[in-house]
Amino acid sequence: MHDTSTPHVTDTAETRNEVLDFVAIGIGPFNLSLACLSEPLEDVNGVFLERKAEFDWHPGMLLEDASMQTPFMADMVSLADPTSHFSFLNYLKLHDKLYNFYIREDFFLLRREYNQYCQWAARELTSLRFDHDVQDIQHVGDIYVVRGIRPSTQEAFVYRARKLVLGTGTQPYLPGAADAVHSEVPVAGSRVCHNAHYLARKDELTSQPAITILGSGQSAAEIYLDLLREIDQHAYQLNWITRSPRFFPLEYGKLTLEMTSPDYIDYFHALPREQRNTLLATQKGLYKGINLELIDEIYNTLYAKQLQRGAHHPDDQHRADLADSRERRWRLQPGALSARTAASLAS
Ligand SMILES: Cc1cc2nc3c(=O)[nH]c(=O)nc-3n(C[C@H](O)[C@H](O)[C@H](O)COP(=O)(O)OP(=O)(O)OC[C@H]3O[C@@H](n4cnc5c(N)ncnc54)[C@H](O)[C@@H]3O)c2cc1C
Repeated sequence: MHDTSTPHVTDTAETRNEVLDFVAIGIGPFNLSLACLSEPLEDVNGVFLERKAEFDWHPGMLLEDASMQTPFMADMVSLADPTSHFSFLNYLKLHDKLYNFYIREDFFLLRREYNQYCQWAARELTSLRFDHDVQDIQHVGDIYVVRGIRPSTQEAFVYRARKLVLGTGTQPYLPGAADAVHSEVPVAGSRVCHNAHYLARKDELTSQPAITILGSGQSAAEIYLDLLREIDQHAYQLNWITRSPRFFPLEYGKLTLEMTSPDYIDYFHALPREQRNTLLATQKGLYKGINLELIDEIYNTLYAKQLQRGAHHPDDQHRADLADSRERRWRLQPGALSARTAASLAS
């Protein structure tokens, strides 16, 4: 955050000398949910500021059949207010899709579907301000003064509020070993890309002789499967390596899921900070890992591909060699990632 003092300040709550109840920064699912829940509250006055021009949820990872890891009931409102206008079921009803969804009998939305649902909600809400990049926050007396710039026009804006809500999400992370070959802005030809830019860079990636995926979270697994499915249409070798000792599944047991309940969250927040930090370190399996069905799907795809090769190249030595070289076209290496491995793969 840094100070901005552009002379053109738009007509905002501050220029009208208003102090809002809250200013919320960032419009991802977290704050969008708060916007949906606060919209009907007539005595609450707040705004949501987002630097992007519109809502778009992880566009680089909206693979055609990728689905959510959380069921539809965990939409933006239902578990807090199932009667809300912004429930996913109401979205389906209004778009004449309720029966299609019911007949599909799958609680897990396609990720593209979730994005469309969020985009619909964003269009319905009156408190969202896209194209508002927050650059400076000051606490003056009891009031937060929030300043920034509108990227499209370079106009400055200012809001004042009694409360601040931060929903700014996380930033893509690249391991240090990739620094030498990575460019901050994704450019054609740079040899490393974060999964956040996967779809935009996919054509470039698939034209390379080898692709190495680092890491073993959900996104890495989805990309591995996507590239594995297409491996026969291209010439690349596909490697998947991670420092984790195994490709761990996300924990999804019912007794564990109790930890997402409001009761557990109240209990957790009442604990001393040190105890919360210790507990958090033991809870990674809840949000770090791969959906079990996806792990199975990867295994089954590898199995089918090996079978396919075996059928095409039975005894002939030449063909067996070919099959062997193709065998090495995909490698999975859990527990294998050291900085040196990563650097040598990237060079
Ligand atoms: C591919 C993928 C799939 C996922 N699937 C699931 C899932 O199925 N279920 C689940 O529970 N979680 C999932 N997650 C986890 C994910 O972190 C959350 O779903 C969600 O995006 C987090 O929401 P958020 O609102 O906290 O942050 P974000 O979605 O990251 O949104 C933060 C917003 O803040 C804006 N912002 C940041 N700084 C500023 C600023 N200074 N001024 C203005 N705006 C700013 C950013 O532009 C961004 O739009 C997934 C994550 C990924 C990457």
